[in-house]
Amino acid sequence: MTLKELYIYASKIIKNKSEILILMKFFFNADRLHITIHGEQKLDSDKINLFLGLVDRLKNGEPIQYIVGETEFLNLKMSVGQGVFIPRPETEILAKKIVDIFGKNFSGSIIDLCSGSGNIPIYLKKTMPKSDVWAIEKSPDAFKFLEMNAKINDVKINMIMGDIFIEIEKFNDDKFDVIISNPPYIKTKDIEKLDKNVKFEPIMALDGGKDGLDFYRKIINNWSSKLKMGGIIAFEVGLGQSSYITDIMRVKFTNLKIIKDFSNIERIVIGTKN
Ligand code: GLN
Repeated sequence: MTLKELYIYASKIIKNKSEILILMKFFFNADRLHITIHGEQKLDSDKINLFLGLVDRLKNGEPIQYIVGETEFLNLKMSVGQGVFIPRPETEILAKKIVDIFGKNFSGSIIDLCSGSGNIPIYLKKTMPKSDVWAIEKSPDAFKFLEMNAKINDVKINMIMGDIFIEIEKFNDDKFDVIISNPPYIKTKDIEKLDKNVKFEPIMALDGGKDGLDFYRKIINNWSSKLKMGGIIAFEVGLGQSSYITDIMRVKFTNLKIIKDFSNIERIVIGTKN
């Protein structure tokens, strides 16, 4: 079988051709142009079988990012695999907003809660190198990716493995200028209805409790004291959650802002501590 034949064969198994192209690039280092030009190249059967094994994993619903072991977040490479939540494009809006507000020269302190792969704190530190960035992640599996990604991207951030509601005791009041979080926000009862590929991701990174708002309530109640007066809290939120979250925030925060994502869904909620 030739490279081109394998591409055509795999494209019949997986409808999303762009995923096959990602796999071809990953496995054969062959992009579309290479397939066009060198498509007649014969492949040995070991390679074909290994490749078809990857196609099988895709067919089973495993996210392409787990199969190739990486994804991109605001042009930074993030290593991912089973046990860690895959960074999403919506979250790029959240991270970028902080840079828009404070500028690249910002030298204050920032803490990201529920950091997963570390996409948010790593991007912030990379973009605002003078800032003091902290990250907390509870899952040991996810924490390994967080550490690895800080290394890959060559940033020094303070990483703590632990529960955000226990580790909080390590910090003085009024310490941070920014608290940022994209916490788990799916309602427990909706988890089973999620797409097959999302179910490959750790449930701990998805489950936001009965109404999906557990983390927001607890972060707002427990962590606000760690924020300086005039400091910013910024969340990514789930579909239909923004008004509930701004209602919880109103007691301690002013200047509440909601930002929509590419699908016109209210996705980011920001407030200033008063
Ligand atoms: N903060 C991480 C991210 O945005 C992890 C999110 C999560 O675990 N829910 O990707």
